[in-house]
Formats: sequence, structure tokens, C-alpha cells
Amino acid sequence: MALPKFDYYAPESLKEANEMAVKSPGRYVFMAGGTDVILLLKDGALPDVDAVIDLKKIPELERLEFSEEEGLRVGALTKLYAIQNSPVVNEKMPAVADAAHFVASAQIRRKGTMAGNICNASPSADTAPILVAMNASVKVWGAKGERTIPIDEFFTGVKKTSLKKEEGEIVTEIDIPALKPGEGSAYIKHSVRKAMDLAIIGSGVWVKMDGSRVADCRIAMGGVAVTPMRAKKAEEFLIGKEASDENLAQAGQIASTECHPISDVRASAEYRTDMIRVFTKRALKKALEHLA
Ligand SMILES: Cc1cc2nc3c(=O)[nH]c(=O)nc-3n(C[C@H](O)[C@H](O)[C@H](O)COP(=O)(O)OP(=O)(O)OC[C@H]3O[C@@H](n4cnc5c(N)ncnc54)[C@H](O)[C@@H]3O)c2cc1C
Repeated sequence: MALPKFDYYAPESLKEANEMAVKSPGRYVFMAGGTDVILLLKDGALPDVDAVIDLKKIPELERLEFSEEEGLRVGALTKLYAIQNSPVVNEKMPAVADAAHFVASAQIRRKGTMAGNICNASPSADTAPILVAMNASVKVWGAKGERTIPIDEFFTGVKKTSLKKEEGEIVTEIDIPALKPGEGSAYIKHSVRKAMDLAIIGSGVWVKMDGSRVADCRIAMGGVAVTPMRAKKAEEFLIGKEASDENLAQAGQIASTECHPISDVRASAEYRTDMIRVFTKRALKKALEHLA
């Protein structure tokens, strides 16, 4: 299908981008890499949109910085490919590099961004579960200034986020706290093909160990509800327990009772539920093998 007609804007500052958005409420779409936006426009999935505001010329959105105090700061224009290949991300947060690597294909990762991945708010977005597990936060800039949205509050439904469209809010940065000694995280994806395939399910976890016991943990699941979701009963079960094979398996079992998957072309709800059981345990084991 051909692209519909739209006005194209390429602002050079956040202020300019925001003013353009506020001027056309309900009729604009921001664009970063465009790997989702262009397809949505072609498919007629954005029938009310007649203005594309391309963010690529805003220099302050391009950043990838790490410090032990502030953690990882991922600018809204930083490509998934840069995250996947960054030595500091691979050293300090390998699970984040893995999640970026799991998205689509090398061609798409050279264009696509983490900000676009979460703003698109697909239930199976690959970077979402690890951001939830690692307690990330999303910095946004709009007509009323800057605010920070905890990642737990960012996703509100399929393709829906808590960004205030009428205020022209733009994601500027995603912040991920650094792992402290004794903490680990992992993201693994289950899909039919190794590349260019959306997740059947994805499992992102974060653990904090006290000797051989789990002092704290967060377990996030993708592809099994309208938004990425925490397996809070599984977390409660695991906290304070030995990280034994039996306990990790039991946490997976509990997580599988907490999700609400649907059946679709990729998998049945029953299969997704069972894969959450399997992949939660695997992700927990992987996180424990890579403690900071
Ligand atoms: C063939 C194919 C395979 C794919 N496979 C996968 C996959 O395996 N896993 C996966 O998770 N995804 C997959 N995707 C989806 C897509 O590539 C990712 O979601 C990508 O990360 C989107 O980033 P982008 O910069 O291209 O976003 P864009 O297309 O530019 O934008 C996506 C959405 O985010 C909004 N947006 C972007 N930046 C901002 C901002 N700074 N502030 C506010 N709103 C913003 C846009 O308005 C739009 O709604 C696939 C896509 C294709 C075409």
C-alpha cells in the first residue's frame, strides 16, 4: 500500500517539536527511526494523522551514557544497534544489550530506537520486559515541562502509553539503574524464528542476592497481556528463599498462573502460559549466572 499524504516536519529543538505537536492535537505522530510509523501509515492504521514530526534533527536526544551513580541513560534517538554493540552496556548491563539484539534484524536495529520500541507499546516489544524488571524510568518533555514516568506506569494498553498527546509529550531519555554487587538481570525471548519475528513470550528478570538467598527480585513478562506485566506472586514466593532449582521452577510455575495471554497466529494461550513457566526459570538462572 502507498503512503498517504501528510505534512512532514523536521524540527531542530524539543521546543519546536513540542509546539508543532500542540498545534495539531490528535493529528500528528512523532517519528524516530520510523520502522513502526512508516508501516502504520502505509497500512492505514493512523487514519487521523496528517503531520509527521521527525525527531532525528534534535541533537540532545542522541546519547548513551553510563555511570555507577546514574546508571544507563539512553537517549530517545539512540539506535538499538548502538545499544546492542556498546562495550559499556555489554559489560555493565548485558541483559539490556541482549534485549536490544533480540529486536527484528540488523537492518531494523540500525534505524529503530528503544524509545520507539516502548512508545509503540506492542505487548511483545522486546525491550519492555527488561526495562520493567530493571525498574527503568522514562523522561518526557512537554508543554508543561519535564516529568519522569516510572516504567511500571508507562504502558496503559495495546499501543497505548501514559504520554499526554495533547501536551505534545516527547520521550527524551530512558534511565536504567546500574546493577550493584550481588544483583543480576536477564532477558530471553521465545519466538518461532531467530530473527525478524515478534516474541511469542519474553521474560525479563532482575535479582538481588544475599549469599545463596534471593533478597529481592522483579519478574516481568512480555506477550502475555495487553501490557508487559510483573509476576508479583512469583516474586513474593522467591524473595527470602534459596535460589535452588526447585524454587526457581516453582517461581516459573507461579508466574504462569499470573499471565493473561491470548491465542493468535503465533501461539495459543495455553502454549504461551506454559512457555512463561519454562522461560521464567531460565531467565532467573541466567541472571544468577551473571551477578555484578
Ligand atoms: C519487520 C519488522 C520486524 C520487527 N521485529 C520486532 C521484534 O522482533 N521485536 C520488537 O520488539 N519489535 C519489532 N519490530 C518493531 C520496531 O522495529 C520497534 O518497535 C522499533 O524499536 C521502533 O523504533 P523506531 O525508532 O523505528 O520507532 P518509530 O517507528 O519512529 O516510532 C514508533 C512509535 O513511537 C513513537 N515515538 C518514537 N519516538 C518517540 C519519542 N521520542 N517520543 C514520543 N513518541 C515517540 C512514534 O510516534 C510511534 O508511535 C519490528 C518491526 C518490523 C518492521
